[in-house]
Amino acid sequence: MIRAYLFALDPTEAQADAMASHCGATRVAYNWCLAQVKANWSQRAAEQTYGLTGDQLTPWMASSAYSLRKAWNAAKDEVAPWWKQNSKEAYASGCANLAAALANRTAGRAKMPRFKSKRTARMSCKFTTGRFGLVRDRRHVQLPVIGVVRTGESTRKLARKIEAGTARIRSATLSYQRGRWHVSFSVDLPDAAPEERTGGGVVGVDLGIAHLATLSTGEQVPNQRRLDAELSNLRRAERACARRRGPDRRTGAAPSNRWKKARARADRIHTRVANLRRNDTHQFTSRLVREFDTIVIEDLHVAGMLRNRRLARHIAGVSWGQIRRQLTYKTERAGVRLVVADRWFASSKTCSECGTAKAKLPLNERVFACLACGIVLDRDENAARNLAALAVDTGELRRELPDGSDVRRACSHAPQSHRHGKSPHRTQRHHRKVVAR
Ligand SMILES: [Zn+2]
Repeated sequence: MIRAYLFALDPTEAQADAMASHCGATRVAYNWCLAQVKANWSQRAAEQTYGLTGDQLTPWMASSAYSLRKAWNAAKDEVAPWWKQNSKEAYASGCANLAAALANRTAGRAKMPRFKSKRTARMSCKFTTGRFGLVRDRRHVQLPVIGVVRTGESTRKLARKIEAGTARIRSATLSYQRGRWHVSFSVDLPDAAPEERTGGGVVGVDLGIAHLATLSTGEQVPNQRRLDAELSNLRRAERACARRRGPDRRTGAAPSNRWKKARARADRIHTRVANLRRNDTHQFTSRLVREFDTIVIEDLHVAGMLRNRRLARHIAGVSWGQIRRQLTYKTERAGVRLVVADRWFASSKTCSECGTAKAKLPLNERVFACLACGIVLDRDENAARNLAALAVDTGELRRELPDGSDVRRACSHAPQSHRHGKSPHRTQRHHRKVVAR
């Protein structure tokens, strides 16, 4: 099993310069190799127009990572006399990236690669050999040529595995994202074969906006509304950008230094909101996996709901898609069962006590009051309890319909398999009618 461990870095100014230099070196090697390949191809095309064929033509330029690197090494003294400033891995990384891009094109997966722009291309550089890894103090990483760089947080989670001999770092990728340098270690771990945890608690999770989630235990997990908290700061920062002279694609005018500063300030807020949000969902999903052995969630149609303009910002803000994704891999790793209820399972409209379904339940009705058995319950808690009940009777997942066919109400994520129920659309609609009745 290969996993990535990402650490934000706090380099010194000199180190940051060296990092930018390495990423630039990767780009230069990539662009130079691409230019060679293109020149080779157009040379052959021109020769063909003169009627040359077969052996008379200039031979194809080999485009494997190895061949490109060889061509680069032969030319680097002339093309980039400064090449010794950077680790040779930086150039090799550019050659390998181009080789992969060309292979993708040959296989029909991608278009012809384009030259990488100094201003817009993502800065990144991969190290596969040389001295890189964690430093014993758990607050620094070692990178070739760049040296020992301080990390934004402790590296102990990975360090413990490496010290115990259960993990091995294969490569390190340096990148600049969201205004900060990061290193991502690709790590070889033993295949996870968790024992399935059974018998323990079952929890139904109703995801919402007012609360991030309501659990069938009655607990409500608050929605921290990270964007709302920063919205006034963000609007001020965006306004400052709007008042300053930004880049103009039409005239090619470069942005002013004041605009760049304002832009950086606004980007920092965006990054902060994204980081806080990510932390919230990770804390939440990890806790669920730690405390319960079976987790039942709804199969929410997030993309469809995002089309509702009044809700879009709030729905995007609670990152349901992320929660689903994290639960999928975390349950798999921990041997916890994840049950995903059918998209049309009427979790809100059904009474969790007696099973009577209501025909209608407007969104503004926050309390579920059953007319049949008289129970009065928070709307979301009722839904969460219905979801939890699904896991208990997975034995009778298939329900008899009047016409003799049966419909899947939910399906279980057996650990280590990604299959989950996608019944044909027609059946789903049919099922919705049945439940609503
Ligand atoms: Zn009832």
